[in-house]
Amino acid sequence: MKSYKKELWFNTTKKIEFINITGKVQETINESGVKEGLILVNPMHITAAVYVNDAESGLIEDYEKWLEELAPYHGDYKHNLTGEDNAHAHLKRQLMAHQVVHAITNGKLDLGPWEQIYYAEFDGQRKKRVLVKIIGE
Ligand code: ZN
Repeated sequence: MKSYKKELWFNTTKKIEFINITGKVQETINESGVKEGLILVNPMHITAAVYVNDAESGLIEDYEKWLEELAPYHGDYKHNLTGEDNAHAHLKRQLMAHQVVHAITNGKLDLGPWEQIYYAEFDGQRKKRVLVKIIGE
């Protein structure tokens, strides 16, 4: 069995950003040489998420609106009493899921027809990374 690890780095221009990383994840599978196995994609930060859904710009705007309604930036948060201003980002990340695991078949991400892998940043404008771990053969 092979094992392969890579970190993908991001430094978003906006505080909140949704980035389709499906291509980068597939490139990492290509580098690994794994043909049959599993891949874990994990944002190594507690104010960012990795999730799978449609690459449709209207849906991404819907997410931003929905998340701002549920966890507004200007909320009354105990976490922000620590001097941070990112309680909303922790909550938004939790709503969008944490990490994803996917199948690799024939050297390709085995995604459904509309499934795309996204990195969702909620406290950006600084260097952050995503762990990609692949096991298989
Ligand atoms: Zn915080």
